[in-house]
Amino acid sequence: MTMQPGCSKCGKPAIYLRRYTSEHLCSACLVKTTIDRVRKTINRYKMLNDSDRIAVGISGGKDSAVLLHILHNIESAYPNSEIIPVTIDEGIQGYRNEALKAARELSRSLDLTLEVFSFEDLLGYSLDEIVRRRSSDSLGTCSYCGVFRRRALNTAAENLEADVIATGHNLDDEAQTVLMNILRGDSARIARTSVSRELSVKGLVPRIKPIIEITERDVVAYAHYLKLPYHDIPCPYAEEAYRNDVRSFLNEMEYKRPGTLLATLRSAESMTRAFRQSSTKWEFTLCEKCNSPSPSKLCKVCEMLESIRS
Ligand code: SF4
Ligand SMILES: [Zn+2]
Ligand SMILES: [Zn+2]
Repeated sequence: MTMQPGCSKCGKPAIYLRRYTSEHLCSACLVKTTIDRVRKTINRYKMLNDSDRIAVGISGGKDSAVLLHILHNIESAYPNSEIIPVTIDEGIQGYRNEALKAARELSRSLDLTLEVFSFEDLLGYSLDEIVRRRSSDSLGTCSYCGVFRRRALNTAAENLEADVIATGHNLDDEAQTVLMNILRGDSARIARTSVSRELSVKGLVPRIKPIIEITERDVVAYAHYLKLPYHDIPCPYAEEAYRNDVRSFLNEMEYKRPGTLLATLRSAESMTRAFRQSSTKWEFTLCEKCNSPSPSKLCKVCEMLESIRS
């Protein structure tokens, strides 16, 4: 008979092995140590101020469910801060409605009101319509969706007078993005994906990623043990083939050498600092059409909107 290991923190029967710290954890210590880790990340990157109005991007999936739950817990110690869950409804028939249900249920359980903004209201087109109208260029649906969602979330946060936008990127997501940028020969992009609050682009609501040091495995375990409502059906437009290859490679490396994901994130931070110090590429001008900060005369949103209108 195999003995169930005891929790490394409190000695009770453990239900989870956190590989990168070699800790066996009971469910209560799993939850507590995950929250503590996010609190440390927030302090380390100086992500939040005591009286911030925080717009939390909620997709209905597990990552943003865990993000909202943890932020709600941490921010309860700061009576002057405020959390506003925000969902961007891209307009994907039969998919987003289910995710919205989960996002509403979670928000209600935390006594928060979910704010919903749609692509259609903010940009004039639903994603389904964009898919029908776009030309047969080399851009995939996710490229349009990603650019438009960024803009939609920024506009939503401005409307809600939020000081900061929190998104649910976990450590696996971030490490995959870093490696994909390197493999595609676009390592300068890393400086764009890993920005901290203080390096945010002037004129845009600053963005933070509080669960960036939490692995996907930890996220799943946290959501599972707290029975958080979330929706896990893949988007019908998902084009994840390349990311899936990188994910498999990183998962294998993390299994063989726990700590690989975190080491990838730390490398990205050093590269970001080096890029930012050595390049003026991060200077933004204003888009001549919509007045949003942009690295070129026409911002990506206006460029894409023009292409689907033509
Ligand atoms: S998978 Fe692509 S199209 Fe679907 S929500 Fe994500 S970015 Fe948008
Ligand atoms: Zn314990
Ligand atoms: Zn523009």
